[in-house]
Amino acid sequence: MALLELKNITKRYNHECCALDDVSFSVDKGEFVSVIGPSGSGKSTLLRCINRIVEPTTGEICVDGVISSSLNKKKLRKLRTKIGMIFQHYNLVERLTVIENVLHGRLGYKSTLAGVFGRYSQEEKRQAFQILEMLGLNDQVNKRCDQLSGGQKQRVGIARALVQNPKLILCDEPIASLDPNASKIIMDHLRNISTEMGITVIVNLHQVEVALKYSDRIIGVNNGKVVFDGPPSELTTRQ
Ligand code: ADP
Ligand code: ADP
Repeated sequence: MALLELKNITKRYNHECCALDDVSFSVDKGEFVSVIGPSGSGKSTLLRCINRIVEPTTGEICVDGVISSSLNKKKLRKLRTKIGMIFQHYNLVERLTVIENVLHGRLGYKSTLAGVFGRYSQEEKRQAFQILEMLGLNDQVNKRCDQLSGGQKQRVGIARALVQNPKLILCDEPIASLDPNASKIIMDHLRNISTEMGITVIVNLHQVEVALKYSDRIIGVNNGKVVFDGPPSELTTRQ
């Protein structure tokens, strides 16, 4: 069974603009998918529809066997814990430390910041430290996020997504603000998360060459439509 299924998704923000136009595809467990396309083609909207930050105008999205449009607020919150999000501008709480940001991920994005640290079990903290170590951040755990480099901040973003034990990680232009060196580190980690942990990863990217290097599958979008869906080798032979 597919982990994610989109059926005939259309999104209109207003009457003139069709950000997504009848998009259908499904993604299997553990697949690493890159979504490529020019600016304004609908990549962000696509990811936002999957975790329902944005409501599709028509169509159906099924995540891990659950049709997301049928859910009440409580069940939607539960579904969102299965979906980690990683953003271009990291979306960390800059004045909090690395470990505080990571543990905060468990509570979801809308929780209050009051008493962030005291609420967690030893097991939750142990897992958070383990993930930070895997991402090479053991020396940074108690640093405030505003003291980190961009690449380190994005690794904190990855750690925050991973402590939720997600089945799916959605990354919206995760390397668009990073230099080539930091970009490689982030893409290597995302690839490992898919290969070694069996987590499905969907990454919006500007750079075709990065998509070709890392993905199992590339979905090309233009003007809200899927214009390519296949393995990197197929995209190369078409060019
Ligand atoms: P991409 O991520 O590929 O740059 P987006 O999904 O951000 O594409 O945008 C797709 C289209 O939808 C664009 O025409 C954009 O201007 C429009 N759009 C995106 N977000 C909104 C919004 N909140 N309100 C109105 N239009 C939007
Ligand atoms: P991105 O790098 O994701 O393409 P944008 O600069 O297109 O970012 O969009 C930044 C924010 O503005 C997003 O929250 C998006 O939803 C919103 N947005 C984009 N286009 C429009 C639009 N035409 N009208 C209103 N909001 C928009």
